[in-house]
Amino acid sequence: MFTVFEYRCAFCGFDGLLGGRPVGPEAAHVRLWSYGGSDQLDNLICLCTIHHKLLDKGVFGVSDDRRITVSAGSLPAAPRAASPYSTSSGIT
Ligand SMILES: [Zn+2]
Repeated sequence: MFTVFEYRCAFCGFDGLLGGRPVGPEAAHVRLWSYGGSDQLDNLICLCTIHHKLLDKGVFGVSDDRRITVSAGSLPAAPRAASPYSTSSGIT
């Protein structure tokens, strides 16, 4: 499965290789295994750990034509206020 995707996350392209060995890419179920998704290649996609978790949480999905979709509910509602924390270390 990883060779089909050339060891790259289908979302961000992270190759997950360290010294030529795969250390990051994961096989993710497009249709979740817990919802009857199979382990067949047509139901698998290569993702990095972060995108695998986001897929499993429903933040994004994969359409029938294999396009990545983003859940409207996962988009930020409004810009955040400035952080109350200073970016200065305070060490002189
Ligand atoms: Zn990724």
